[in-house]
Amino acid sequence: MSLVIYNTLSREKEPFVPIDPAHVRLYVCGPTVYDYVHIGNARPVVAFDVLYRLLKRRYPRVTYVRNITDIDDKIMARAAESGETIEALTKRTADAYQGDMRRLGALAPDAEPRATEYVGQMIELIQRLVDKGHAYAADGHVLFSVPSMPDYGRLSRKPRDELIAGARVEVAPYKKDPADFVLWKPSADTQAGWPSPWSRGRPGWHIECSAMSGALLGETFDIHGGGLDLIFPHHENEIAQSRSAFGHAIMAKYWMHNGFLNISGEKMSKSLGNFLTVHELLERYPAEAIRLLLLTAHYRQPLDFTQEGLQQARATLDRWYGLLRGKSVQPAEAVPQSVEEALSDDLNTPLAISAVHRLSDPAALLAGANALGLLQQEPEHWFRWTPVGAAGPGDAEIEVAIAARQAARKAKDFKESDRIRDELKAQGVILEDGPKGTTWKRG
Ligand code: AMP
Ligand code: ZN
Repeated sequence: MSLVIYNTLSREKEPFVPIDPAHVRLYVCGPTVYDYVHIGNARPVVAFDVLYRLLKRRYPRVTYVRNITDIDDKIMARAAESGETIEALTKRTADAYQGDMRRLGALAPDAEPRATEYVGQMIELIQRLVDKGHAYAADGHVLFSVPSMPDYGRLSRKPRDELIAGARVEVAPYKKDPADFVLWKPSADTQAGWPSPWSRGRPGWHIECSAMSGALLGETFDIHGGGLDLIFPHHENEIAQSRSAFGHAIMAKYWMHNGFLNISGEKMSKSLGNFLTVHELLERYPAEAIRLLLLTAHYRQPLDFTQEGLQQARATLDRWYGLLRGKSVQPAEAVPQSVEEALSDDLNTPLAISAVHRLSDPAALLAGANALGLLQQEPEHWFRWTPVGAAGPGDAEIEVAIAARQAARKAKDFKESDRIRDELKAQGVILEDGPKGTTWKRG
């Protein structure tokens, strides 16, 4: 089944033909770590995790790199505010990010480079751009010279005046052209900085991804992903840097961008203040329900994040886990064709989910859902999930109550057995009597 993906470069769906079929290479821009990430930030992680799983089924070797930006003005500002060191702040928040993404069922990428570990490579890359006449130093800064690249702007397809306006550039005396962007900037004595040929300073954001992808995946690679908001300027500038430094016609062959996760019709973002962190959501909802909700819309479409959506996702998983409960099911060896076909068409996850709905065979159901990174736990575990800090009985108490109810039923004391059932129900625990005994779930 051939894989087709929408390439932002061509604005078309294209068959996926890897540069080297023996080794497929994927890079996705990760977060800037200074706080818990919000659920919008998790959308690319989950969408590209589905792609990673698919590529791993098809190709003998896949290398997936997802970076962590751990040097940035926002990080410096936050550290200055709280008195925490930058190292402590970024370690704490990067660890929380990785833990939260793992709980959302995202496989660990093959490499998760942190920008601060690659400053040497960034300086080398900037030097190369200077040597080739694509960059110039001025006042301790180094800038990329946009006019040095005749086809700059191919990815975002913006006309020049928009490129300039969109770059949100302050008029800086050291810029030769208003569209030029920063590769290196000087740091004040009190700010984090690294020695370089131009100044003690720090890298611009865009050069980080060119350096890390170049070091870990090579000068050209197959797929580069991220959210829609990264097309310009971030990805446009990554392309300008990597192509100009390495001298190839492409940086990545395919560029994939996820749409926004919205809340009440508005993009979720830190700056608008309308965000929910993954960390707090994971305390209130089962992780797989959050993940399923993220996959209910096609990755390029907007996705509205609502409570009802979460509840529906949970009900869907209740149904699927219900079909597996009490059986010991191994996933079918192959992902069912209906699911594989949907995913092969530019990761059509809503279609794949409806295909999973139609699977009645437990082994096929499990294999189909696993392709989406779902049904990754024992059914009993799923049904026992409880929000953090929830009142109500623990698992052991429930088991004791069920045993007492069994005893009452055996003694034909149905009043008592009903009382126990109703009491549990009032505490949010639902009992189901089946041929193999009584099972329970938290509602
Ligand atoms: P940032 O830390 O803002 O650079 O974001 C990390 C990743 O999350 C990038 O790929 C962004 O495009 C993506 N992202 C940020 N906000 C949203 C959102 N509301 N919906 C979907 N993706 C988002
Ligand atoms: Zn990037």
